[in-house]
Amino acid sequence: MESDISQAFQEELTCFICLSCLTEPVTISCGHSFCRACLQLSWEDTQLPFHCPMCREPCQQQEMRINIVLKKLVSIARQASLMKDLSSEEHKCVSHKETKRILCVESRIFLCQLCSNSHEHRGHKHCPIEAAAEDEMERFLKQMAALWEKIQKNREDIEEEMGTKTLWMDYVTLREEMIRSEYRELHPFLCEEEEKHIECMRKEGQCVLEKLIKSEARMVQKGKELRDMFQELMAMSHEPYVVLLQGLDDMVRRSELMQLSMPKGIQPELSALPITGLTERFKHIQVHISFDQIIMFHYKMNLFNVLRKFSFGHHSKDTSVDSGGCYLACWGSLNFISGKYYWEVDLQGSGDWAVGVCEDSWLRNTNQMTDYEGAFLLVCVKEGNHYSLLTTSPVYRQYIERPLGRVGVLLDCEDGCLSFMNVSKSSLIHKYPPGTFKNSVRPFFSSGLKGRTFNPAH
Ligand SMILES: [Zn+2]
Ligand SMILES: [Zn+2]
Ligand SMILES: [Zn+2]
Ligand SMILES: [Zn+2]
Repeated sequence: MESDISQAFQEELTCFICLSCLTEPVTISCGHSFCRACLQLSWEDTQLPFHCPMCREPCQQQEMRINIVLKKLVSIARQASLMKDLSSEEHKCVSHKETKRILCVESRIFLCQLCSNSHEHRGHKHCPIEAAAEDEMERFLKQMAALWEKIQKNREDIEEEMGTKTLWMDYVTLREEMIRSEYRELHPFLCEEEEKHIECMRKEGQCVLEKLIKSEARMVQKGKELRDMFQELMAMSHEPYVVLLQGLDDMVRRSELMQLSMPKGIQPELSALPITGLTERFKHIQVHISFDQIIMFHYKMNLFNVLRKFSFGHHSKDTSVDSGGCYLACWGSLNFISGKYYWEVDLQGSGDWAVGVCEDSWLRNTNQMTDYEGAFLLVCVKEGNHYSLLTTSPVYRQYIERPLGRVGVLLDCEDGCLSFMNVSKSSLIHKYPPGTFKNSVRPFFSSGLKGRTFNPAH
């Protein structure tokens, strides 16, 4: 009778997926329970809604709640079988014929009372096996959770790297067209320079592409290793406590070590190649912009943070500005409706900055820092040691070397187009196509306030 009950209990505590005793049992909406790790793996590559692996009922919530009662029952069952294992003949100390009830934490072996007092073990940390089992299991589960997090991060990194690869190829192709058209406009006789420029860019583009492919392969390889490790940990978590206690330390160490070296994504970038006489030809239309309409806004809701998220995705931590930081945004009182103008803005090596033009409707828009319609800006955002360059309307990543000194802005109201230039490198950063805007626009500038004088144009 008693063994029937214990048999029935054992069955109830068995996971449908791995057919072992439940480890970290979680219960989903249909009422069925599984090991957390088993469910995580079984749902990993499926789309919402998830289905119960047992009854196939759809399950919307992805959150996995631990079933505390089941967890307690599992623990009681495992402790009972641990006691049984320990009291068996094979676990008796050979020299002293006593039951081994003590775990030597240093050497990960079981000892009897007399052995634990021996010269060899006297200096070691010891604890009763039953007490150690629960704590060690918790430590092991924490390790599994940490590893699982890294596996997810690795997945995201791979997706991101694949996305960057596509964006990069498009960028290099589009940039080639842009550079060619700039040369056509500028010096139809500079064919040789144009060809050299394009060739250099293509070479660089190809080189970066190869790096991206290698980086992706490294990440895929790492993903395989992490997954294998996870499977190993999972198998270990199902072992009886006697086995787990002796093998866990080594496994946790290997898992930790593996997580230390996660391959990082590549920040692709093209060098700012010079175009002879790029900015000189606009000296006669150069104007002085006085950015006299200034507003200050808190760092929380601003275009930099939104674009930082866009550039650096889930890794973004808003680390470049402390929480007390402020930003200044300013625009010129002059409104340009016709003609062609050129001005330069000095960035003085600031971290986050935006330069360009905007329509009045955008300035009036209360969502102006998250909605870019009517704002044509070149924006630089800093994240840790990385910088990212973007243009707005539409938001587009510019994989070109970041300008360090002055940015030249060419505004052509007749064609409705706008160009940004790296003045010291005599290099084109980006050119919006003709017809980009139809209304009048104002010069705009914004930057982080980092104790520097705010004097962008002179
Ligand atoms: Zn399971
Ligand atoms: Zn179910
Ligand atoms: Zn002994
Ligand atoms: Zn010892």
